[in-house]
Amino acid sequence: MAIDLRSDTVTRPSPAMREAIASAPVGDDVYGDDPTVNSLEERVAAMFGKEAGVFTPTGSLANQLAIRILVAPGEELIAETNSHIVRAELGAAAVFSGITTRTWPAAQGLLKASDPLEIARPDSGPYLVSTTAIAVENTHNFGGGTVQPISEIAALRIGADAQGLALHLDGARIWNAHIASGVSFLEYGKYFDTISVCLSKGLGAPVGSIMLSTKERVSKARIWRKRYGAGMRQIGVLAAAGHFALDNNIQRLADDHRRAKELAVAIAAIDPSLIDPAGVQTNIVGLDLAHLPITAAELATRTREKGLWISALGPKYARLVTHMDFDDAQCAEAIEILKKTLVA
Ligand SMILES: *Cc1c(COP(=O)(O)O)cnc(C)c1O
Repeated sequence: MAIDLRSDTVTRPSPAMREAIASAPVGDDVYGDDPTVNSLEERVAAMFGKEAGVFTPTGSLANQLAIRILVAPGEELIAETNSHIVRAELGAAAVFSGITTRTWPAAQGLLKASDPLEIARPDSGPYLVSTTAIAVENTHNFGGGTVQPISEIAALRIGADAQGLALHLDGARIWNAHIASGVSFLEYGKYFDTISVCLSKGLGAPVGSIMLSTKERVSKARIWRKRYGAGMRQIGVLAAAGHFALDNNIQRLADDHRRAKELAVAIAAIDPSLIDPAGVQTNIVGLDLAHLPITAAELATRTREKGLWISALGPKYARLVTHMDFDDAQCAEAIEILKKTLVA
């Protein structure tokens, strides 16, 4: 069997998770009648200190519902240059919400509160686009799984309040941030007006994200979810996987982080220009191939021939992501494959 480190979305539901799915009480969620969805939405909202949540099939939709609610057509959202919202949602904010985005660049995607605050232009009058909201990604995917400093998040909230700006958290991997930093979900939650979280990344559910906010915003988001065609029926079967993931799969993320660090240390031992292991904080190992004579796509092809699947996300940027279907034995094997590939 190939070792698949393209993403932490490649995991398959375990037999125990499938049992939870099979025995879930369900109802029609468009009528608000699915008890398993309702309890999951309430549970995750309470974890982050929010009033309400709405279940979505994808993290992209959870982000887009938040954007639709926070930013009016013709206004702008600002976000980091390599954020998922800007780079990996296929222009959805422009298509669905009729808004523009403006970006600030940050090394490793790491937040410095002053960066967005300096480019924010709320209430710009009749000629210039007005900024309405700022998005923060934690952990930062294309930044290499970096954890945003809580001091910068707190400073951003103060600055955003001073300018009357809303804050959105793209928390697809907030679970990993919590495990790496020890910062509680309630602490992360209190700084943001809207939050999206994914159950289908490191937590191992097959489907599912939740958008969290006030009751009022979540009620509006339900209308937009239905309008976008994502009003779903007996999805307690999906929510049950989410409950199971929250019950069983948060603490174990520490193992994914340890294995990512092991991979990074081994790769740096082969060629230190590829990665600085000190920068690997969670489950993502980003490789910079600038000093290598091959492209990321070529590297991915070569490791794949040996049974290791990795992602080529840029001409010279490759990514390995650890997850719950990747164990210590596979980690040792992956390191052997990387050695053979990179030394040859
Ligand atoms: C995966 C991811 C999402 C959501 O992705 P979907 O594939 O739409 O579920 C959002 N933000 C970040 C940072 C992600 O990594």
